[in-house]
Amino acid sequence: MTIDIDVLIVGGGLVGGSLALALQDQPLRIGLVEALAAPERAASASGDRALALSRGTVQQLKALALWPDVAANSMAIRHIHVSDQGHFGKTRLKADDPGVEALGHVVVARVLEKALDQRLAESPIQRFCPARVMSLNAGPDRIAVTVRAGNEDVVVSARLVVAADGGTSTVRSLLGIEQDIHDYEQTAIVTDVHTGEDTRHTAFERFTPSGPLALLPIEPHRCSVVWTLGRDDAEKILAEGEQELMARLREAFGFWLGDLTLANPPVGFPLRLIQAESMVHQRVVLIGNAMHQIHPVAGQGFNLGLRDAAVLADRLLTQHRLGNDLGDPDFLSQYARAREQDLKTVIRFTDGLVKVFSNTFPPLVALRNLALVALDRLPPAKRLLTRRAMGYGIHLS
Ligand SMILES: Cc1cc2nc3c(=O)[nH]c(=O)nc-3n(C[C@H](O)[C@H](O)[C@H](O)COP(=O)(O)OP(=O)(O)OC[C@H]3O[C@@H](n4cnc5c(N)ncnc54)[C@H](O)[C@@H]3O)c2cc1C
Repeated sequence: MTIDIDVLIVGGGLVGGSLALALQDQPLRIGLVEALAAPERAASASGDRALALSRGTVQQLKALALWPDVAANSMAIRHIHVSDQGHFGKTRLKADDPGVEALGHVVVARVLEKALDQRLAESPIQRFCPARVMSLNAGPDRIAVTVRAGNEDVVVSARLVVAADGGTSTVRSLLGIEQDIHDYEQTAIVTDVHTGEDTRHTAFERFTPSGPLALLPIEPHRCSVVWTLGRDDAEKILAEGEQELMARLREAFGFWLGDLTLANPPVGFPLRLIQAESMVHQRVVLIGNAMHQIHPVAGQGFNLGLRDAAVLADRLLTQHRLGNDLGDPDFLSQYARAREQDLKTVIRFTDGLVKVFSNTFPPLVALRNLALVALDRLPPAKRLLTRRAMGYGIHLS
């Protein structure tokens, strides 16, 4: 059996699902292949990660009508407190300064995934779930994709395939697209803690000798912790057990929020910068983590992936309105060129932060402290940093 559609999106995660929603009301026929059934995804531990959403992302989620479901379970960030453990330097960014309601929002990934799944289930999008792509075969006018659901294979014929199947993208592997991999040799320990005191809409960024530590409020008395450590150090802490982790965490963070108690088992994420060597291939585009996986400590991955989806949706709709081929090689190259600068800027920004803030070289630590003190006293520099934090997401480290 062959099914004819216009665009087949592989991967119904945060980025692929958002793209599908952005295209759903248009006269395009959209298919979506997702490997995990909804209950399986809901049970996955990775759904516990907290996402810092930039103001641009919130606008996109509003445009997709996802925001009302997400907003009720998200936390507006009105203050960011940046400090360096054992040093005097600190600065505070406030939403009041640029006169906005929030510098950004934090939401647990599972909340957003659930809202997306509900909207997708109500949409006219043809869903293949649970299902996987087995092969792709591009021709001059269309691309044929074999999709396996259970024991059954169907062939989907599309004008364009969008690979949004995450960091271990099957589409990318099937096409033999290589990846550039830079291993930071660091691991992010991610967990949740209950806090003795109300977080009062404050995100904390603290630079510790062992690595940057972020506490992002997800409820008045609950924070998501993202603590970046050298790989050996992180593995040692994880192996020592929860009591030792909490002792180390209390020592590194201090008592800004009263006593901290563990709310969720910690999970370690090895940190790498991974980029596919090509963003487009014959009748295929790579977006989100299938294209780029960046250091989560800067809280940029989803914000960046959602911008991929928004730009692609916009261009696909124009291309369709003009009656042009959605898989045209020039059209795809133009899309890739349009996304290059954003990707480069985010990677440079993230990479720079990782280097500066994971560094224990004394002159750099001193400089970092002076910068924090100066920032607190220099309104123009502070305004610049506040704008950056709002634009890119509220993690600064
Ligand atoms: C600890 C941590 C903290 C983070 N914090 C932030 C943050 O604060 N802000 C931020 O913006 N980003 C953050 N990120 C990054 C963010 O989580 C990712 O960038 C985002 O999830 C990428 O979305 P995606 O849809 O591209 O990929 P994924 O979320 O990985 O989704 C891929 C989807 O494809 C499906 N799939 C996989 N293989 C197949 C296949 N063969 N066939 C069909 N379907 C398939 C999967 O089941 C999944 O549903 C963080 C990441 C981590 C690890």
